[in-house]
Amino acid sequence: MLELDGVRAGYGAVNVLWDVTLAARAGQVTAIIGPNGAGKTTLLRAVMGLLPLAAGGVRLDGADLAGTPTWRRAGLSLAMVPEGRMLFRDMSVEDNLAMGAYPPARRAGLAQALERAYARFPRLRERRRQAAGALSGGEAQMLALARGLMAEPRLLIVDEPSLGLAPRLVDELFELLAGLKADGRAILLVEQNTARAVALADHVHLLAGGRLVLSQPAAEVELERLHARYFGRT
Ligand code: ATP
Repeated sequence: MLELDGVRAGYGAVNVLWDVTLAARAGQVTAIIGPNGAGKTTLLRAVMGLLPLAAGGVRLDGADLAGTPTWRRAGLSLAMVPEGRMLFRDMSVEDNLAMGAYPPARRAGLAQALERAYARFPRLRERRRQAAGALSGGEAQMLALARGLMAEPRLLIVDEPSLGLAPRLVDELFELLAGLKADGRAILLVEQNTARAVALADHVHLLAGGRLVLSQPAAEVELERLHARYFGRT
C-alpha cells in the first residue's frame, strides 16, 4: 500500500534520513525501531509530507505522493497519531474527535464516526464533555488514537504510542492495534518497546543514524541480536 523508495530528508541543510526503502501493507504492522535521534519521527513526517524529500519517493497504491500536500494525504486514507499525542487540551474530548473527521465531506457522517469511536473506546464516551487536558495519560493516548481513526484511514501511522503508559494500558493498546491489523488496516508503528513491537509486527526495520541497518520479517527477528544492533554493539 505504502512504499518508500530511497528516501532522503532532513531539516534545512541537515540531512537526517539516508536512502530509506520500506513498505507498509494492508493487514500488516510495519515496525520501525531505533535509538533516540535515529530519525524515526522524521521518517513519519516525511511520509505525511510534513518535510520535503531531498531524494527518493513515497508512493501510495503505486501513485507518487510528491507534490501532494499533507491535508490531501489525510484525504487519501493516511492518518498520523503523533508522539506526545498533540491533543487540543482546552477542547472537549468530543471536539478533539470531531477534528479528526477529515476531509470535511466526511463530517456528514460525524455522528456515526463518533458512535464508532465510543464503541471502540467506551471510556471516551464517559468523558466526552471533559477537556482533553484533564484526561489521564492512558485516556489521552486512547483519544489520540480514536481521533486518528475518525476518518477510518486505511493506513495508520503511530509514533511511540506506549510512551509513558502503565503496563496494563500498554496491554490494552497493543490489543487495540492487533484488532486494527485484523481489520485489514496497514499500520506503520514507531515504538520504543522493542519486544512488544516485534511481537505485533509483520516486518521490523531498525533505524540507526538515519539509515535502515536491519530489515526483517518479524518471525525471523532474534531479540538479542536486534538489541545488540540497536545499541551499536555489532
Ligand atoms: P526520538 O526517539 O528521540 O523521538 P527519533 O528517532 O524520532 O528520536 P527524530 O526526532 O526523527 O528522531 O530526530 C532525528 C534527528 O533530527 C535528530 O538529530 C534531531 O536532533 C533532528 N531534528 C529533529 N527535529 C528537528 C527539527 N525540527 N529541526 C532540526 N533538526 C531536527
